[in-house]
Amino acid sequence: MESAKSIAIALKKVHFLWPKATEPTIAMDELNIYRGEQLFISGPSGSGKSTLLSLIAGILAPTSGEIIINDCATNQLSSSERDIFRGDHIGFIFQQFNLIPYLTILENVVIPCQLSKLRTQNSIKHHGSVLNEAKALLTRLDLSSDLWHQKAHQLSVGQQQRVAAARALIGKPSILIADEPTSALDANRRQDFLDLLLDVCRDHGTTLLFVSHDLEIMQNFTKAIHLNDINDCGKGT
Ligand code: ADP
Ligand code: MG
Repeated sequence: MESAKSIAIALKKVHFLWPKATEPTIAMDELNIYRGEQLFISGPSGSGKSTLLSLIAGILAPTSGEIIINDCATNQLSSSERDIFRGDHIGFIFQQFNLIPYLTILENVVIPCQLSKLRTQNSIKHHGSVLNEAKALLTRLDLSSDLWHQKAHQLSVGQQQRVAAARALIGKPSILIADEPTSALDANRRQDFLDLLLDVCRDHGTTLLFVSHDLEIMQNFTKAIHLNDINDCGKGT
């Protein structure tokens, strides 16, 4: 029943203009994303997909309007408060993964817990320690123990991507955001990675926002939005 579902992310009359821009990149009247939903976000290059994810993650603040994440109006927070909020509640997989090349796989994966008490507590509660959860996630993502002490720069693209996923998921953030994480992979590995990610999110009850150009994978998600449509509908009213 629609009314029984709780909202993880709500955007209300959100406008965002980049400095010096004359037109908003984001103009969205309303967007509700429910807890546990697996949302596919598509749209042409330059339509504002990454900008939207940065607004939801609190990397950017809206020019006007409200962004409510887990019942917190993040648009009212300062930039450093938003950083802390993001560290606690949101895992982020970047298009280029952004691993720290000279750190080992395990060292990369535990970083979010070093930055968030809440995620450390979650790790300890469910796995006994942060390191145990890191190992469990890496195993689940098909990265065997002989790789754990290798430096991130020694890995293949597919391996780096799975490390980035483990890093985003550690400490059970309630929201996982992935910005075109499969664009560097071939079709087979793309589907394998996606299946793993969707399974882990389903098991954790994680709300997933997944941006991709690849409309073939859309059917794997519980809901899909096309960014231009939303922006058009926001601008038109
Ligand atoms: P997408 O992820 O859908 O390709 P983006 O959100 O990256 O789109 O970009 C949307 C629009 O915002 C583009 O017109 C782009 O030029 C502009 N834009 C993106 N990043 C910046 C930035 N750092 N400064 C100014 N304009 C930007
Ligand atoms: Mg983008």
